Amino acid sequence: MKIEKIQVLRGPNIWSIRRPNLIQMRLDLEEIEHLPTNKIPGFRERLERLIPSLITHRCSEGVEGGFFQRVEMGTWMGHVIEHIALEIQTVAGMDTGFGRTRETKTPGVYNVVFSYLEENSGVYAAEQSVEIARCLIENIDYDIDACIQNLREIRERHRLGPSTGSIVEEAVSRRIPWIRLGRNSLVQLGYGVNQQRFQATITGNTSSIAVEIACNKELTKRMLDQAAIPVPSGDLVSDEEGLRTVIEKIGYPIVLKPLDGNHGKGSSINVNDFETALIGLQHAQNFSQNVIVERYITGYDFRILVINHKMVAAARRVPAHVIGDGKLDIQELIDKENLNPLRGYGHEKVLTEITVDKDTNELLEKLHYTLKSVPKNGEIVYLKSTANLSTGGTSIDVTDMVHPENVTMAERVSRIIGLDVCGIDIMAENLTQPLKESGGAILEVNAAPGFRMHLAPSEGLPRNVAAPVVDMLYPPGKPAKIPIIAVTGTNGKTTTTRLIAHIVKNNGYRVGFTTSDGIYIQNVMLTKGDTTGPISAEFVLKDPTVEFAVLETARGGILRSGLGFKSCDIGVLTNIKEDHLGMNDIHNLRDLTKVKQVVMDSVKKDGWSVMNADDEYSMRLMPELESRVALFSLDEENPHMKKYAKEGKISCVYEEGFITIKKGDWKIRIIKATHVPITMEAKAKFMIANVLAASLSAYLHGFAIDDIANSLRTFIPSPALTPGRLNIFKFKKFQVLIDFAHNPAGYEAIEEYLKNVEATKKIGIISGVGDRRDEDIRQCGKIAGRMFDYIIIRNEKHLRGRTEDEINELIITGMQQAGKNVSYEIIPKEIEALKHAMSMAEEGTFITALSDVVTNAIDLVQEYQNRELLEEG
Ligand code: ATP
Ligand code: ATP
Ligand code: MG
Ligand code: MG
Repeated sequence: MKIEKIQVLRGPNIWSIRRPNLIQMRLDLEEIEHLPTNKIPGFRERLERLIPSLITHRCSEGVEGGFFQRVEMGTWMGHVIEHIALEIQTVAGMDTGFGRTRETKTPGVYNVVFSYLEENSGVYAAEQSVEIARCLIENIDYDIDACIQNLREIRERHRLGPSTGSIVEEAVSRRIPWIRLGRNSLVQLGYGVNQQRFQATITGNTSSIAVEIACNKELTKRMLDQAAIPVPSGDLVSDEEGLRTVIEKIGYPIVLKPLDGNHGKGSSINVNDFETALIGLQHAQNFSQNVIVERYITGYDFRILVINHKMVAAARRVPAHVIGDGKLDIQELIDKENLNPLRGYGHEKVLTEITVDKDTNELLEKLHYTLKSVPKNGEIVYLKSTANLSTGGTSIDVTDMVHPENVTMAERVSRIIGLDVCGIDIMAENLTQPLKESGGAILEVNAAPGFRMHLAPSEGLPRNVAAPVVDMLYPPGKPAKIPIIAVTGTNGKTTTTRLIAHIVKNNGYRVGFTTSDGIYIQNVMLTKGDTTGPISAEFVLKDPTVEFAVLETARGGILRSGLGFKSCDIGVLTNIKEDHLGMNDIHNLRDLTKVKQVVMDSVKKDGWSVMNADDEYSMRLMPELESRVALFSLDEENPHMKKYAKEGKISCVYEEGFITIKKGDWKIRIIKATHVPITMEAKAKFMIANVLAASLSAYLHGFAIDDIANSLRTFIPSPALTPGRLNIFKFKKFQVLIDFAHNPAGYEAIEEYLKNVEATKKIGIISGVGDRRDEDIRQCGKIAGRMFDYIIIRNEKHLRGRTEDEINELIITGMQQAGKNVSYEIIPKEIEALKHAMSMAEEGTFITALSDVVTNAIDLVQEYQNRELLEEG
């Protein structure tokens, strides 16, 4: 067996729209292809022994143990590997359950697809599941425990922390999209101008000055004290003299802690004599010169969480500890406690396992204990100095028991410090009495308080404290998303995308759009290149200035890692034609339709799918669409259009020379096609089709007819606005057309256009694209042979795995099938070919350059135009 490729899918994809997070592993079974599980002696038994929990997999049998039955009867190894990959993730605390295994067109080669919760763990699970299968087949030992532990460690290294994770989960439940920014816990909610950011529990609105105040414990205490909120009395000290003065004022017992410490580092608690206080001072000064000396308050550690200045939860926190039974030693008691099913590795369960570290050893030392000491029956031994859950502490929810006066106090504290998400640490006997009566005090105020103790307390009610954060970031009525129009199809995507973006911009929106030429915000190209994949879509959706996104969404990106957005408002499918067939397991138009369908399936149910009624495969897709559908067509008599009109539905049609919206039989004429420059005086039918698609989308979004018409009128097919899309350059004697057509449908579109062009001679410059199928290259040659009187064959910059001769041979064969003996020559370099064509041009010649590096071709032709002007001048 050989893993050929592992892909991480992160957005809606060909396997699933609702489960964006999938691993897709291309696996060559090699010799194992001929060994189903029932032909491998002992396979089932070994599998059951290694991963007994697979018993829960019902598989197609639908009963517990169903999967084992399938293995017994005989199933393919790819299928087994899929189940193993899912189960080892489940055992490692990442319960996820979607899987598909399908043979590709290459016999013995499978796509094994399964869901993941954390992508690095998913990739590891893919690799290990194959290794596990290999060991099971060959009857070799495999250390499954080590594998599971590795999975856990990878997960903890990469996944979002529990607080961040809870806010993301809450957002997802409200259909608010999110994007992780960078590797840490910085997260964007929403899109474009409507985005909000947060990191752990600091939001984009958390005041920086408030965080600074909270981090300065002394300043915090002073501000609270001045507002009549109880804090431990004390002062800052930096030497023995100062220490003595403060103690004289506040008396024993005291606490010493570094001014800006955390996690209890350098603190001495409950100090009752000057000698120990002095040692404590030195100890704390290892962390900061200035040391807080304050009254020791008796009681328990409480945390009150205030969000948006409202108390949302309160918890009592207890540091990790064990309770003696007079028999077991401390290490044994820890081991026993770690067997508690509530405890898990890292953040996977309610509680974290207790580990022994420096802090534990120091605490035990103070008690003159070691791990071998046996505490008395009922004796509580604390193993950590702070009550953090991440070090094994526990928490008890007490939200409903907080005295109203304490609630008011906590909400005042959050305003005084100015924190939108505020964790208040209180030491008190209880919170049921006002602090002033119980003698409790506020020890400190935390910015970025952890949520886990409230989300999953070890006792008491769990509280969804993520919800108020999302409420605060997105109060009712505040949108999280921006409108998204996604454009897919074989031909015309870029042109349609640009047209829609132009209309959107003219309607006063700041538009971000992606195309196969580059990413644009308004009129500025920000990156150049084929930017039609998910990363480019995210680029636009991450931009905080963008109000409206129009995204050209091509096949390559969908297959590589899925869509870069979860859903869109309008999806446009221009057409489905032969191109790129034979690549990425896409062999025919049916396969290709499945890929384009991903975009249409991502359209919201109350959104619109804009479909081409003249395109056969688009129409075959129609019954599967869940959103509303609107059609466009060049032909009013198209049967789908007639049916639509009868049903009173919305469409857009080219009729009597007009671009017209139809609602049932009512017609709203937008503009005469001849007034739309991009249609080349209505001679370029395919451009009219793009105009129909764009106008219909704009209309469905709600733009006014007049505004659409004005935009269409001002969209000039200039090399600057649409480079390489039907750019015509006029010379005194001849004309040059530069276009990007590169597949049979594109060639046919040009052929159709040239029929309307008057010329004494039509010269074509063409080439074959290396990674396309033989028949597609031949077909292009054939169409060229039909539409040109003379042909110059050039070569592409990238041959994509073929030789020039091979490609030229196919083109020439195609040309010869055109039924007319067109003469040709071969000039490999595009620029040379173009120069030659212009040098041989006569009065009335029309040169069509189907270009590879469009910008170079345009530069050359414009240079020639300038030269002609100078000579005239
Ligand atoms: P963390 O980062 O975990 O919040 P920290 O270094 O900020 O810790 P504090 O929160 O000030 O330190 O104190 C840690 C713990 O020490 C408190 O939770 C409490 O149990 C104890 N403590 C601190 N000050 C006092 C005090 N004045 N009286 C009683 N106990 C105290
Ligand atoms: P790519 O897949 O290369 O990004 P695209 O789908 O973005 O292509 P455009 O860049 O808009 O398509 O157009 C490329 C070429 O395809 C045009 O220059 C033209 O020759 C042809 N074309 C454009 N629109 C259509 C259409 N609606 N039908 C057929 N051919 C078209
Ligand atoms: Mg603290
Ligand atoms: Mg394109």
